[in-house]
Amino acid sequence: MRKFSGNRLLVATHNRGKLEEIAKLLEDFEISVVSAGDLGLPEPVETEDSFVGNARIKAHAAAQATGLPALSDDSGITIEALDGAPGVYTADWAETPTGRDFVMAMTKTWDKLEAIAAPEPRLAQFRCTLVLAWPDGHDEVFEGVMAGQIVWPMRGDQGHGYDPIFQPLGSDLTFGEMDRWQKNRISHRADAFRKLVEGCFT
Ligand code: IMP
Repeated sequence: MRKFSGNRLLVATHNRGKLEEIAKLLEDFEISVVSAGDLGLPEPVETEDSFVGNARIKAHAAAQATGLPALSDDSGITIEALDGAPGVYTADWAETPTGRDFVMAMTKTWDKLEAIAAPEPRLAQFRCTLVLAWPDGHDEVFEGVMAGQIVWPMRGDQGHGYDPIFQPLGSDLTFGEMDRWQKNRISHRADAFRKLVEGCFT
């Protein structure tokens, strides 16, 4: 396992919500975090059909473009009754000609579950794959999972993406109702981050 050395890390994302969560998760380390979005790097096309494949595309593109170690996150929600959909297409379900609309994506998700009368609880998992890539082409991969259920109506206005309809197992709150501190303790991203920190930062 290769260790991270240095004090500058590029976060290969154009998603501000993700960047903020990642910066918070790394705040105990003396690392300055800069994002691909802030540097105006082009967003690579995610052509793979797995989280790890797409995370590798993003991390390696950013590391090559900047000469810095780059961390990417590919994540999404997999819903049991929908055979794992939306999965790697989680963000695509929110696409509109004028940008991403997550209320529409969450409504689409619920409508699909209703259409097949999916039994309750409507089990789902948030999954997160982190890839830390170096400019010489080496990488390390870490995966995190949070199990829960899809609920309706949407609840909470914190977090991002599908947070208002995802209720983690063992919680009465949706991710959308949790503050960042609560969510960061238990989320799929926190799970993957613990593994990343143990593997590459300590
Ligand atoms: P990516 O940028 O291709 O990894 O897209 C991930 C998708 O999953 C985005 O649409 C996110 O909004 C959604 N997603 C990932 N993690 C979370 C989360 O913690 N909460 C809510 N939505 C998430």
